Amino acid sequence: FISKLPQTGTTIFTTMSALANEVGAINLSQGFPDYECSAELTDLVNAAMKQGHNQYAPMGGVMSLREQLAIKTEKLYGAVYNPETEITITAGGTQALFTAISTVVNPNDEVIIFEPAFDSYAPAIKLMGGVVKSLSLDPPDYRINWEMVKRLITNRTKMIILNSPHNPTSTILHKEDIEQLYSLIKNQDIFILSDEVYEHLIYDGETHHSIAAYPELRDRSFIIASLGKPFHTTGWKVGYCIAPEYMMKEFRKIHQFLVFSVNTPMQYGLAEFLKNEDNYLSLPGFFQQKRDSFRQGLEQTRFKLLPCYGSYFQSVTYNDITDEKDMDFAIRLTKEFGVASIPTSVFYSKGTDHHVLRFCFAKRQETLDKAVDRLMKV
Ligand code: GLN
Repeated sequence: FISKLPQTGTTIFTTMSALANEVGAINLSQGFPDYECSAELTDLVNAAMKQGHNQYAPMGGVMSLREQLAIKTEKLYGAVYNPETEITITAGGTQALFTAISTVVNPNDEVIIFEPAFDSYAPAIKLMGGVVKSLSLDPPDYRINWEMVKRLITNRTKMIILNSPHNPTSTILHKEDIEQLYSLIKNQDIFILSDEVYEHLIYDGETHHSIAAYPELRDRSFIIASLGKPFHTTGWKVGYCIAPEYMMKEFRKIHQFLVFSVNTPMQYGLAEFLKNEDNYLSLPGFFQQKRDSFRQGLEQTRFKLLPCYGSYFQSVTYNDITDEKDMDFAIRLTKEFGVASIPTSVFYSKGTDHHVLRFCFAKRQETLDKAVDRLMKV
């Protein structure tokens, strides 16, 4: 059997969650909440089921959900997308990413990614025969040097993948970043894939600069977003992609044969829930309180905090504790101290010795307190 992805193992999220479960550790590795989603939302889904919304959704997604997403996108980013032709509901962000990558990448096309990078990008590019061109970013700021990006661009560059708020580093792209990006590619045929699944999780009054807000870039961009992250329903696996019609038309050709469509009652429930904008506008406050409390706790430990501007992840360095590799230390921390994290070197194609661990703080206060108690003993 000839592997199509010889260098790819099981994703770190599965590996660390399995280890956490095996040894009974507090699982701050894979990003998901340990509290319930809104009862109003589950009631809406139950009602949709009782009303008989239990058969295939339209291929592009339940129309009322697409309409609500169009309203939200216009309200937040001033961008008008046609729900009929420019918004597609996907089985989570990961399927949307895979579909978007397969829509544009042909053999030998180059795709620029910034590392640390979410672990699904590179395998999807490689499966399409594409070539990954990565630019490695360093803590504490993980700033993109656009001069370096310019040097990576060739006449084979097909796409650039952005991710803001960023997983795993919790950094965000600023307006200047997007302007610099635009000046680099304005005269070239380069697509953008903008992974914005943490769009609503942004702190300290910062603004999320969606690519949707930049008309010149929007015309060549797939924007990927999530409904699991904002509404605490990662297990429902509902996300979406927005793109101009000429791109979405091609995206749907693949989407229809990958999943055809996404579970119907969840889409009805989410559509109703989105009608109340407080349900997403309240998220920065909700998560910032968790971030602040977790950071305060970690300040009493020997871990050193990295900045966190967005997402529900907090990264730390641990040079005062050990010089172990992050993978070895993350495993030992899980087994000996009962707290699971994600070692971030796995998000670099060539690894790193940055010694950074990522913790998810989308957890109940008592879980965060218990985790901090354990981390104080390290
Ligand atoms: N996005 C989540 C994280 O970073 C995990 C996604 C997954 O498990 N595939 O933890």
